[in-house]
Amino acid sequence: MSRICYVNGDYVAEEDAKISVFDRGFLFADGVYEVTSVLGGKLIDFDGHATRLSRSLSELAMSSPVTRDELLDIHRELVTRNGIEEGLVYLQITRGAADRDFAYPADAAPGIVLFTQTKTLIESPAAKTGIRVVSLPDIRWGRRDIKTVQLLYPSMAKMEAKAKGADDAWMVEDGHVTEGTSNNAYIVKGSTIVTRQLGNEILAGITRNAVLRFAREAQMKVEERAFTVEEAEGADEAFVTSATTFVQPVVSINGSEIGDGTPGPVARRLREIYIEESRKAGI
Ligand code: PLP
Repeated sequence: MSRICYVNGDYVAEEDAKISVFDRGFLFADGVYEVTSVLGGKLIDFDGHATRLSRSLSELAMSSPVTRDELLDIHRELVTRNGIEEGLVYLQITRGAADRDFAYPADAAPGIVLFTQTKTLIESPAAKTGIRVVSLPDIRWGRRDIKTVQLLYPSMAKMEAKAKGADDAWMVEDGHVTEGTSNNAYIVKGSTIVTRQLGNEILAGITRNAVLRFAREAQMKVEERAFTVEEAEGADEAFVTSATTFVQPVVSINGSEIGDGTPGPVARRLREIYIEESRKAGI
């Protein structure tokens, strides 16, 4: 079945969804993106994603081709037209098409593309079994707080993790875990949840923000600080968060079982709360 995509003002069948070979997203990874999950046909945390998008754009001196309200309309229209009950909306804005030059073009019109994907989010098998991660060096650029489309190293790291028999990688810089290839990383020690503090070294996950808020509301103790791989290997629990995985337990790190090697109670509880609250707040 052909999906309807949105390309620079038009709703088009995916076969016709095309952009210029001169687009700077294609030539320079000069673009930013967001992924918003859909549950029961509703957008989860659209506001958080829209706010982070504006910040990513402004950090790159790029303008948005649409207003926030137009963006919401486009998201909703695509969800409706493609009949998405559970899945995601992917959005990408690039600086647009211009003759290839390292300097930003003065007059390029920013390009915008959105598409949907149907995906099983709630009953995902990995949420039940938990995932295995390995640690790998974090050799990405230094502005990971900007959600750019330059995702080659995270892809390479994911492939290396798979080659090592794991599901994903946790990246490590200066002896401390930064984040997963496409998620934020957490450990639980006793009753305390530990996750790296925000900064240029990691992406400020929209799911992270919500999960930490729910954890605090549920009287759980949260510490935002860097932790080492050794500390993670000795933790009682570990988990990751992202828009499409919600809260996903991690059951082994570098082959060491975490806790008893099954999803832990804190991760399971936070996943339940996150799904319940997100369903209520979806728009
Ligand atoms: N960190 C990285 C590097 C990511 O790519 C992502 C999501 O793609 C996240 C964290 C989680 O962010 P969010 O919860 O907004 O999906």
